[in-house]
Amino acid sequence: MRYVISGAAGFIGSHVCDRLIEKGHEMIALDNLITGHRSNIEHLLSNSRFRFIECNVCAPLDIPDSVDRVFHLASLASPVEYLQHPIETLESGSTGTRNMLDLAVRKNARFLLTSTSECYGDPLEHPQSETYWGNVNPVGLRSCYDESKRYAEALVMAYHRVHNLRTNIARIFNTYGPRMALNDGRVVPAFIDQSLKGANLTVFGDGSQTRSFCFVSDLVRGLLLLSESDEAYPVNLGNPVEMSILEFANEIRARFHNSIGIEFKPLPSDDPKLRRPDIAKAKRLLGWEPEVSLPEGLTITIDYFRRNQDAQPVASVSESTR
Ligand code: UDP
Repeated sequence: MRYVISGAAGFIGSHVCDRLIEKGHEMIALDNLITGHRSNIEHLLSNSRFRFIECNVCAPLDIPDSVDRVFHLASLASPVEYLQHPIETLESGSTGTRNMLDLAVRKNARFLLTSTSECYGDPLEHPQSETYWGNVNPVGLRSCYDESKRYAEALVMAYHRVHNLRTNIARIFNTYGPRMALNDGRVVPAFIDQSLKGANLTVFGDGSQTRSFCFVSDLVRGLLLLSESDEAYPVNLGNPVEMSILEFANEIRARFHNSIGIEFKPLPSDDPKLRRPDIAKAKRLLGWEPEVSLPEGLTITIDYFRRNQDAQPVASVSESTR
């Protein structure tokens, strides 16, 4: 099959491309490299089944080839990135989603949106299942991301209903692994980067807020299963093993022989206090659940960052917007 993938040079996008190439598919990979990195897809550029087009999906898109699947992953996904580029973030969720949906309609292709657990905002229900409608601040600093993804989900459902388009929506919870940018501000690369430099780990707030971390290979497997299912309503994809950020910091410290200290910093506004996916729907519909444990995933990720410390892609944003 031929896939069009936006955000292909990003962290998750590049792993999706790898998996699809392994499975023998063709792909047209789109990225404007605002937060993606050419180095993430460098190894695919010489493959005749992989074509890279550097473009912004918010501009009208014309692809002459036939297309079977359209995946819209393009997004500024880390809080540091979207706080620095709020308008681009809103644009990729709104205009970008619309352009990709129009492409899918023209090509009679199936469509998949990668949405987010941020649709639940600072949730009042725990764990979060797909039936929960969320608690989102519509005008806060995170709203550019949360609301554009909520709009994107509404747009996908409208295209599904009006055009009979076969669509899927994945609500992705915190995911980590090789190819995250070391300084994109997210907690996994932030703590690993700090540990490798022998710096204190910056825990925001008192560290009691919780997250659960899904290894990227598990997530990609879930996305591909979902893209072949007929479920149009959102499906959570994430790892249900929950821990506080302080516990996570200690897990990282243990890997570096506890020689690293902890420095508490102010909690960013609207930072969700609790987050854990209810993955019963994904289990039931897709037979999917994560297989890689946090210790296994962290070993692979730390190893990657250690090997690539100097050559590591560095996010093109500063931390000043935190
Ligand atoms: N966090 C932290 N220190 C950091 C980066 C993040 O304590 O250096 C916290 C952050 O406040 C949040 C959690 O870790 O509660 C996960 O943050 P991340 O930016 O990875 O993603 P989020 O889940 O907030 O989208």
